[in-house]
Amino acid sequence: FDSKLPSTGTTIFTQMSELAAKHQAINLSQGFPDFDGPSELLNRVDHYIQQGANQYAPMIGIPSLRQAISQKIARCYDHQVNADSEITVTSGATEALFATISAFVRPGDEVIVFDPAYDSYDPAIRLNGGTPVHIALLPPSFAVDWQVVANAITPNTKAIIVNSPHNPTGTVFSAHDLEALYAIADQHDLLVLSDEVYEHIVFEGVKHQSVLRHKELAKRSVAVSSFGKTYHTTGWKIGYCVAPAPLMAEIRKVHQYLTFSTSTPMQLALADFLSAHPEHDEVLPSFYQQKRDFFNEAMSESRFTFTPSPGTYFQLMDYSAIKDVPDTEFALWLIETAGVAAIPISVFYQTPPEDMRLVRFCFAKQAATLSAATQQLVRL
Ligand code: PMP
Ligand code: GLN
Repeated sequence: FDSKLPSTGTTIFTQMSELAAKHQAINLSQGFPDFDGPSELLNRVDHYIQQGANQYAPMIGIPSLRQAISQKIARCYDHQVNADSEITVTSGATEALFATISAFVRPGDEVIVFDPAYDSYDPAIRLNGGTPVHIALLPPSFAVDWQVVANAITPNTKAIIVNSPHNPTGTVFSAHDLEALYAIADQHDLLVLSDEVYEHIVFEGVKHQSVLRHKELAKRSVAVSSFGKTYHTTGWKIGYCVAPAPLMAEIRKVHQYLTFSTSTPMQLALADFLSAHPEHDEVLPSFYQQKRDFFNEAMSESRFTFTPSPGTYFQLMDYSAIKDVPDTEFALWLIETAGVAAIPISVFYQTPPEDMRLVRFCFAKQAATLSAATQQLVRL
């Protein structure tokens, strides 16, 4: 048969986690914490399961969770969102991204994505007949040159996907980026799909520049987030998207036939926890900044070089002083030689920059895990 995605293989996250398990390596590759979320949250899931909350949730999400999300958005971004018509709970951010792309991208439409790009965007655009237009962000800053973006717009450009804080580089948008994004989207009538799954993991006291902060930009944007990142529960696969009602109505048409709804007891537990503990996401920056600094301090004894990540729970490291090989080869060597798994960066580019010598480490780990890993890495 004829593959619809002939050049798509198994995602790098699966590949590296499988290799880490095979070599019994410390897994700093795929992004997930090696610790649990708050026990009060976990206990609420048990509570609701015992209470019999085990059947389908409403298609658009449990009302109390949508209310709690709406209050969180008001608290964090000073933006009022209607919990009934402008929020949908999805099976992870991945589903929200796919449902949004499916709802709006038609054959022939172009969608701008920034490389290194999270790996689900490109296949989702292609499966819907669209053409991803990749714009490369380059080290060391990985900053967006908005003039390059303006030049890439054609009459077929339908949407632009942005991701701040950015996976895998950790860079974050400034207020200027948000303005520049708005100017281009407004001028060319573009939909903005804003992947904000790391919205609460921004360091050094910097504010996350959500599209929801910008009243005009929010009118043409779909903001996507994930409870997996904020509550250390990536395996629950619960996320959500926020969009103006007419856009949300279209996204729901896809969502209802993609997954229909998502886990009932977990939504109920998240609703309770989010309402009772708004402080959780307020302490997340310092919680992860401490882990970043712990990891980086140990790594400063190594031959890796780096600038501290501004956001996310990922740290890029340059390994050129250790070995002059492409990053995928280095990542395999690292597993075999040091027993530590990392993610190569070139796989997130359509055309990787030549001689890029960077890998991504996930520092969402207990101190003991980070210590064990860095003890291996400083020897290289
Ligand atoms: N977007 C980005 C940038 C991510 O890093 C991830 C995942 N880890 C996702 C989307 C998917 O989130 P989820 O696990 O909630 O589907
Ligand atoms: N977002 C996670 C990462 O960047 C992985 C998610 C996945 O495995 N699909 O590592």
